[in-house]
Amino acid sequence: MPGEPSSAAPPDPGGAAPLSTAALFGRCPRCGRGALFHGLLAVRERCAVCGLDLRAQDAGDGPAVAAIFVVGALAMLAAFVVEFRFEPPLWVHAALWPAVVLPVSVLTMRVAKAALIALQWRHRRSAGGV
Ligand SMILES: [Zn+2]
Repeated sequence: MPGEPSSAAPPDPGGAAPLSTAALFGRCPRCGRGALFHGLLAVRERCAVCGLDLRAQDAGDGPAVAAIFVVGALAMLAAFVVEFRFEPPLWVHAALWPAVVLPVSVLTMRVAKAALIALQWRHRRSAGGV
């Protein structure tokens, strides 16, 4: 189960998980096995596998900016395509786009937040950080 302590060998404390693993699967930036999040977007205080302290990691507004610019632009393009191709009544747009945009935005913010935290951890660590 993700986020649970593992009985496997402890990870290399000096290594870093691949960025793709940390970002796409929401994993610890150091070991790549422990869950980074509890809930949708809240970052855990500590990795359950390697014990990395995650309290100082803060992605700021970056994940929200990714969701606004990327998902917003794609949603507008999709709305135009649906409107000009199918000409649905207005209530279809009102029902369709929130159902599509909200989960895609949360997923985008989750991946962006995990990627930013992984990158922050990598670069701060080399400057004598954690
Ligand atoms: Zn870890």
